[in-house]
Amino acid sequence: MPNVAEYFAENVFNDAVMKQMLSDEVYSSVQQTISNNQPLDPTVADAVAAAMKEWAIARGVTHYTHWFQPMTGVTAEKHDSFISPDKNGGVIMEFRGKELIKGEPDASSFPSGGLRATFEARGYTAWDPTSFAFIKDNVLCIPTVFCSYGGQSLDKKTPLLRSMRAIDKQALRVLRLFGNTRATGIVTNVGPEQEYFLVDKQLHDKRRDLIFCGRTLFGARPPKGQELDDHYFGALKPRVAAFMTDIDHELWKLGVLAKTEHNEVAPAQHELAPIFSTTNIATDHNQLTMEIMKKVAARHGLVCLLHEKPFENVNGSGKHNNWSLSTNYGKNLLDPGDSPAENAQFLLFLTAVIKAVDEHQDLLRISVADAGNDHRLGGNEAPPAIVSMFLGSELTAILESIESGTPYSECHIEPLKIGVDNLPVFPRDTTDRNRTSPFAFTGNKFEFRMLGSSASIACTNIMLNTMVADVLGEFADELEAADDFNEALNALIKRTITEHKRIIFNGDGYSDEWQAEAERRGLLNLPSTVDCLPLYITEENISMFGRHGVFTPDEMHSRYEILLEKYIKNVKIEALTAVDMINQEIVPACQKFMLQLTQLIAGKQAIGVDISLESERLNTVSKLTVELDTQCKRLSDCIENPVIDSRDSLEVAKFCRNEILTAMADARSAADKLELMVSKEFWPFPTYDELLFNI
Ligand code: ADP
Ligand code: MG
Repeated sequence: MPNVAEYFAENVFNDAVMKQMLSDEVYSSVQQTISNNQPLDPTVADAVAAAMKEWAIARGVTHYTHWFQPMTGVTAEKHDSFISPDKNGGVIMEFRGKELIKGEPDASSFPSGGLRATFEARGYTAWDPTSFAFIKDNVLCIPTVFCSYGGQSLDKKTPLLRSMRAIDKQALRVLRLFGNTRATGIVTNVGPEQEYFLVDKQLHDKRRDLIFCGRTLFGARPPKGQELDDHYFGALKPRVAAFMTDIDHELWKLGVLAKTEHNEVAPAQHELAPIFSTTNIATDHNQLTMEIMKKVAARHGLVCLLHEKPFENVNGSGKHNNWSLSTNYGKNLLDPGDSPAENAQFLLFLTAVIKAVDEHQDLLRISVADAGNDHRLGGNEAPPAIVSMFLGSELTAILESIESGTPYSECHIEPLKIGVDNLPVFPRDTTDRNRTSPFAFTGNKFEFRMLGSSASIACTNIMLNTMVADVLGEFADELEAADDFNEALNALIKRTITEHKRIIFNGDGYSDEWQAEAERRGLLNLPSTVDCLPLYITEENISMFGRHGVFTPDEMHSRYEILLEKYIKNVKIEALTAVDMINQEIVPACQKFMLQLTQLIAGKQAIGVDISLESERLNTVSKLTVELDTQCKRLSDCIENPVIDSRDSLEVAKFCRNEILTAMADARSAADKLELMVSKEFWPFPTYDELLFNI
C-alpha cells in the first residue's frame, strides 16, 4: 500500500494544484473568489478551465460534468466529453471557461415543487468555486449549484451557501462588539458521523423490499439481535475490514478526511466519521461518501444500506451532525476559552444557540423529516421526535447560577459576573455521555442526532445556520444600541437563559416521563413527517428565511411540496412492494407448506396415525394466511382509494400515514407470525438471521 500522505487528494483540483498550474495573477483571482464569495472573473475562467482540462486529461479523463445536488437527495451528473471536431476529421480536446462556469441541464425531470409550472423548464448549473473540482470514475466533476432560469434554487447547495453567508454576517457583527477586528469571516464546521448497514449482495437481491425500498417490509425477529452488546466496537469481520480499507483508500484519493471506522450497536451496522470541515465541503463530501460506500460495497459482494430503519427490532441508522462556528483564523466560538472576555463571548454564542433551538424546534424537526426517519425517531434507539438540548450538569449549573445570581458551587463563592470572571472549568468528557438527547453540547460543538442516515446534511445546516444567524442578528441589534456593553451583555444573557431554559433537558430522552414533561414545558412533539411539514411554511418561518436571503417564499412553498411528494411516493412504493411480495411470494409459500401438511395428514390418516400436530399447525397457518390476505386486500384498497389522486398533497400524505402505513403494519404482523411457523425451506426470501449475521 502506498503512503497515504502521498496520494491523499490526488484526484482533487485543489489549492496546491491550482497554485502549481495557474499563473500568479489567475491564482490570486481565484483565491479572491473563494475567500470573498465573489463571482469568478470571466477572463480568469478560461485559464482555470484550460488548467483543469490539462490536469484531468493527464489522468486519463475524457469527460466533464457539472456535479449538483437537486432535491432528490442524491447527486446528479450529466457527462459531456471534451471532444470537439477539428478540420481534418479528427478531434481536439476542448474545455472553455464558459463551460466551467455554467451548464444548462433540462430541469424538467428534477423535483421543483411547482416552481417549474411558472418558470421555464430549463435550469442552469453554476460552478461553486468554494468546492474543489475532482475526478470520479474518469470524469472531471465540477461542484455546482442548480437553479431555475428565474434564479430560484432547485437544489440543496444554493440555500446552504446563502445560509453560510447569513451566519457569517451576523456572527461577525457580534465579534466586532467584543473588539475582535482581526477575523474577516465566520464559518460553520460540520463533522457528520455516517451510520450504515452492510448485507450480502446475493441475499439482498432476493428481497424485493430491499431492492425497491432500501428497507425490509417483513421479517420476524431473529433469535439474537443486539441484546448482548457484542457488536458495538467489536473486532471487524474480514469482509467488513476489507470494505473499510477500500473505502478509506477511495475517499482519501478524493480528499475526504475519513478518520474513524467502527462497528455500531446493531449486528451488521457500522459507522464512518470524517474529520470535520467547512459546512459546504462537509456536505459535498458526505454525498460523495454515501455514493462511494455503495460502489465499494458492490466490489466486495456487499450492499450498503443507508436507510434509517432497514430492520425492525434492531437499531436504525442516523447521521450525527457535529456543528460549530469558527473564525477564519480557526478560533472556535463554541470553545469556552481562557480569559473572562472569551468566556463572556462563549456564553453569548451558547445562549444564542439555546434561543435559536427553542424558538425553531419546528425547523430542526422538519430538517430531518422523511418517511424513512419516521421509523427511527422516538424508537428508544434514536432521539425522540421532541427537540431538546443537553448541556451537561456543570454547564447547566453555571447557567442557573447566572440566571439566579447565586453562587455556582463551593469552588466559586461569588455569583458569576459575565465579562469579569473566568468560567469554572467544566470537564469535557462528562458532557458527552447523554446519547438520548437530540441536540447535545459536547465540549466545543453541538451534536445534532436526529438526522437520518440517508439524508443530505444540507437541510439541517441550512436551518441551523439561518436560525442561529437570526438570533445573533437580534443580539447584535440590542448590544450595538447599548450604552454600557457589559451591562447590556449581562442582562441579555440572563434574560435569554430565563426565557429559553425550558429547552434544556439533561435527563433520559427515551423515557415516557420526558414526553409528559416536554408537554408541560410547551415543547413541540411532532411524531411524523406529516405532523411537522406544514410548519415549514408558517409566516414566521417564511419571513425569517426571507430576512436572511436564504429562501424566497416561492422556494419555501416549493420545498414543502417536494418533501410531501417524496413522502407520498415513498409510502406508495412500499405499499405496492408489500402487496406484490404478499401475493406473489408469501401467500404461495404458505400454500405450499399447507399442501405439504395436507398430504401428510391424508397419509397419516390412511394408516391411522395421530394427526393432531399437523392439523393444529395447518389450522394456525391457514388462519394467519387468511388474515394476511385480508390485510393485503385492505392495503390494495388503500392504494386504489381516490384520496390518493387528490391535488391536496397534505391530505394525501395524511392518508398515507393514517391508512396505508397502518395497513402495512397489520399485514406485516401476520406475515412475521407466519415466518416463524412455516418451514424454512418454503420461506421465499432470506430472513433476518441470514441478513444480519451472514457476513
Ligand atoms: P464521538 O462523538 O464519536 O465521541 P467526536 O465527538 O470526537 O467523536 O467526533 C465526532 C465528529 O465531530 C467528527 O467528525 C469530528 O471531526 C467532529 N468534530 C470535532 N470537533 C468539531 C468541531 N469543533 N466542529 C465540528 N465538528 C467537530
Ligand atoms: Mg459523536
